[in-house]
Amino acid sequence: MSSRISVVAASATDAGRVRAHNEDAVLVTDCVFVVADGMGGHAAGEVASSIAVDALRELDAPAGGPGQVVDRVEAANQAILDSVARHPEQAGMATTLAGLAMVTVDGSPRWAAVNVGDSRVYQLVDGRLSQVSQDHSEVAELERSGYLTAAEARVHPARNIVTRCLGRDPVDPVDSWVLLPQQGERFLLCTDGLTNELEDDEIAHLLQDGDDPKVIADALVGAAVEAGGRDNVTVVVVVTSDASPTDAGEDDEETTSR
Ligand code: CA
Repeated sequence: MSSRISVVAASATDAGRVRAHNEDAVLVTDCVFVVADGMGGHAAGEVASSIAVDALRELDAPAGGPGQVVDRVEAANQAILDSVARHPEQAGMATTLAGLAMVTVDGSPRWAAVNVGDSRVYQLVDGRLSQVSQDHSEVAELERSGYLTAAEARVHPARNIVTRCLGRDPVDPVDSWVLLPQQGERFLLCTDGLTNELEDDEIAHLLQDGDDPKVIADALVGAAVEAGGRDNVTVVVVVTSDASPTDAGEDDEETTSR
């Protein structure tokens, strides 16, 4: 079965209440969705995040497989390094990247999610929100190894320290996941400016409030700014319909880091 997944998507972003600049970047095409959270002084953070999302713009065709998405993320890493080589004042700039792309595996539609850093990809199916991506942060690693509870991790002072990012030589490993399309599912991509302000249940509530992805995206960003807006906030909301039926009980396939 090769029926296309029908999607509508929209983004929203806000610098928040504290930061003078918005160093996040976002990409929404027919089949590729990306958020990136730039880091680096002298306004270089926004350069790094822009370079990263631009590198995935070329994926604008659902023909390739998941490996092609990972290849483009690695190309983004190289493009950042190339920019630093030409502009030494950008030294040290880096960015997270979380992405979702429609791909084809053996002639059938699949979702490929990728992540480097602590931006996130969430999936909402039947009202249940789950985080597809794994955070690459010191706090997330402490939580995974049992040294911190989820509640402690949320407020930990080191929660912004990422353990992987783009802009490194050699390139940090890119995590990827391949998902079977599910009927009526929704996706949310976001930078940590959203998840540091809103709990998962608030996010789940807002993500299923209506069918217009732009209205939902604006509501999510508005709620994060309202809750404090201590960081740049960026989201992409993907609303699907008419997904090809999938076999009940079939689990998500996961590919490994590379
Ligand atoms: Ca951030």
